[in-house]
Amino acid sequence: MKAEDRAKKIKMILMDVDGTLTDGSLLVFPDGEELKTYDVKDGTGILLAHLAGIQSGIITGKRSKALEKRAETLRITELHQGILDKKESLQQILKKQNFQKEEVAYIGDDLGDLEVIKEVGLAGAVGDAHHAIKKHSHFVCSQPGGKGAVREFIEFIITSQKLWPEIKKRYFEFLERRKG
Ligand SMILES: [Mg+2]
Repeated sequence: MKAEDRAKKIKMILMDVDGTLTDGSLLVFPDGEELKTYDVKDGTGILLAHLAGIQSGIITGKRSKALEKRAETLRITELHQGILDKKESLQQILKKQNFQKEEVAYIGDDLGDLEVIKEVGLAGAVGDAHHAIKKHSHFVCSQPGGKGAVREFIEFIITSQKLWPEIKKRYFEFLERRKG
């Protein structure tokens, strides 16, 4: 099946964090606290997905307070942190949200994402993902992780669903509402 046809069925986008929503860099302080940067373009992409009626979720092996804050700001529905078995989290999400696996997309960058991308309807790899992730993905981004890959993946889904003109309109209405 073509990636566009897979994308048409998507109702939820799940994302990895390190190397996907970030470029993989970690600034580690002596007390072990870590600092990462997120790309604003990806944040807007997640908002666009929500405006298209597509839900979002995060499955990450690590835990951080900053991520909780970021997920809250972006109104991400499912936040699963400290996860060793991402496939198990996917099953929990499918059950809770009552979605079929064909209705869920996942984007990742490294071997920890391999088992989960084999399970979802639409698998995405960031541009600088491990070759095994690229090989098993339906859509390989041209942008690297933390530099707009998630945005690219989301826009691909919205475009495949032929929602792009409507979402652009909704986005500018959203900005107007925020102003007023
Ligand atoms: Mg990763």
